[in-house]
Amino acid sequence: MAEEVLSNLMSEGRSFPPSEEFAAGANATAALYDDAASDREGFWAEQAGHLNWATPWEQVLDWSDAPFAKWFTGGRLNVAYNCVDRHVEDGHGDQVAIHWVGEPGDSRDITYAELLAEVSRAANALSSLGLVAGDRVAIQLPMVPEAIIAMLACARLGLTHSVVFGGFSPAALRSRVEDAAARVVITSDGQYRRGKAAPMKENVDEALEGLAGVEKVVVVRRTGTDVPWTEGRDLWWHDLVGAQSAEHTAEAFDAEHPLFILYTSGTTGRPKGILHTSGGYLTQASYTHRVVFDHRPGEDVYWCTADIGWITGHTYIVYGPLANRATQVVYEGTPNTPNEGRHWEIVERYGVSIYYTAPTLIRTFMKWGAHIPASFDLSSLRLLGSVGEPINPEAWLWYRENIGRGTTPIVDTWWQTETGAIMISPLPGVTAAKPGSAQRALPGIGARVVDDSGTEVAKGSGGYLVLDRPWPAMLRGIWGDPERFRDTYWSRFADRGFYFAGDGAKYDTDGDIWLLGRVDDVMNVSGHRISTTEVESALVSHPTVAEAAVVGASDPTTGQAIVAFVIARGGAAGVDGDRSAAVAALREHVAKEIGPIAKPRQILIVPELPKTRSGKIMRRLLRDVAENREVGDVTTLADSSVMELISSGLRPGA
Ligand code: ATP
Ligand code: MG
Repeated sequence: MAEEVLSNLMSEGRSFPPSEEFAAGANATAALYDDAASDREGFWAEQAGHLNWATPWEQVLDWSDAPFAKWFTGGRLNVAYNCVDRHVEDGHGDQVAIHWVGEPGDSRDITYAELLAEVSRAANALSSLGLVAGDRVAIQLPMVPEAIIAMLACARLGLTHSVVFGGFSPAALRSRVEDAAARVVITSDGQYRRGKAAPMKENVDEALEGLAGVEKVVVVRRTGTDVPWTEGRDLWWHDLVGAQSAEHTAEAFDAEHPLFILYTSGTTGRPKGILHTSGGYLTQASYTHRVVFDHRPGEDVYWCTADIGWITGHTYIVYGPLANRATQVVYEGTPNTPNEGRHWEIVERYGVSIYYTAPTLIRTFMKWGAHIPASFDLSSLRLLGSVGEPINPEAWLWYRENIGRGTTPIVDTWWQTETGAIMISPLPGVTAAKPGSAQRALPGIGARVVDDSGTEVAKGSGGYLVLDRPWPAMLRGIWGDPERFRDTYWSRFADRGFYFAGDGAKYDTDGDIWLLGRVDDVMNVSGHRISTTEVESALVSHPTVAEAAVVGASDPTTGQAIVAFVIARGGAAGVDGDRSAAVAALREHVAKEIGPIAKPRQILIVPELPKTRSGKIMRRLLRDVAENREVGDVTTLADSSVMELISSGLRPGA
């Protein structure tokens, strides 16, 4: 008899079918599921056919060397040509590709024709440095157009880029440059962060000190900050790139040519250098952007708020949207600079129709208050998306009500750095959406919830999320570490050949998938395996709570006990006053929402939660605090002082 892996505590009955009007015009239809089911390789071949191939492929999938996949073998294409040139050749050179908005208020519109000229110049510049296909280039840049141009220039030349988030420390940059053996680093003098210019080149210099192998550092001028300069090594982007010809002929590369290396967020441990290649990746990036966001070239104005340093920025700012000839907003700064209405002002100004962000930001908007978006005209929005963490039903409803006028579809998209593109999501116009559920594997993708032995669990039960067949945008490995690749993803269910995602999930009684957080984070209370997500969602559904993180801490009687860390909603009554009464009310609320077993032993009201730079809560650090251990690796934490704040609140008597 299969063991139940996760208790299924919450139930959510609300469902939001698409409007008839939306369904009638949608890119996706229910038939896609059938097409993909009846001929999966044929289905992916059809999706790949949306791209321009210099040489057609011979075989759609070669899985003979599993878990190392090859897609579209023998096929050749140029990724940058597909993202830029072909749109210009098709007569869309005057269409705006990027509405760029700088944090201090400067802005720049870049058409596809201009983008082609810039990418061509940058490609000529990188060639002039002696770089050849297969070389690695590290990019640490703020959200400026040059970041996208640099990535596309690499893709155009077959150089493998490794983008490092602009906020990362010299140590984090150094280890990534070293790991990839990058020959060139592209950076900027400084970056704007919350209204101030902070140095960047200086950090890069520190990162590269004594490091052999980096031949050139190319510096984009952004803030005008003074920079240290190494003669012979450092070059200004505007000097180097500005002097080049705007003509460059793109050469085609093998479908399996390495496109980029990108490190995971480090939420659960040491980051992994994930390798992605060209043809399959671009196929799935383009397909998912078209069907999940219902994107229409030339009509929509699309905005993904991610940073270029994360996989979401790679797939849904650079490769997917540009392959699909999107007009998109790219914003440089933070959402509360100069004020908390910044995003909505941008939506109003550019008529943004598709908006894609993370639950952490949605909960922040909730905390700031609904009156802020209410004072802007958001009527251009027709579709909203979420990615990065499970979205609590309460946050989903708030998003739809206050940003989506109570009418727009919301797509809750589950995927990972490793998957390269969206895997599980509702299809707008097809799926009746359920707040808090990512629902169903996309057509062409196979996902299941299984128990310890790899057997699929019944409807209404929880377990491990696995991907049961290869997909075009899948990682091709961990850079330089094939053993870690096998161990991390393929050893857990080796006999079944499943990819182990590391996330817990459940099926509801309709068979829809709900993500329940990291398997590493699952709590075991008196023999019940309880997900962090469900308890957090119950807490967030209380009107005084803006954000919550829960962990299991060892407990002499129950094995583990639930410890919750809670941030109060701005000005919420009850929390600022009598803490013990507020805490008692929250414990009762959880008991009522999901049952007495899930009642936290301890609830701590804290000012902040530890998050990765991509906004994910790092529960492993909270578990260290709850169990009085020394706090583990914090190198990918957005703000390292947060742990100090939290620990001080937890000392006896607090
Ligand atoms: P590391 O693997 O180094 O711990 P990470 O897993 O945080 O880092 P990412 O690849 O950025 O790095 O994040 C992928 C993870 O984000 C998924 O495994 C899942 O836990 C979470 N996630 C992403 N989207 C969703 C979603 N829509 N619903 C639930 N969880 C999501
Ligand atoms: Mg991960």
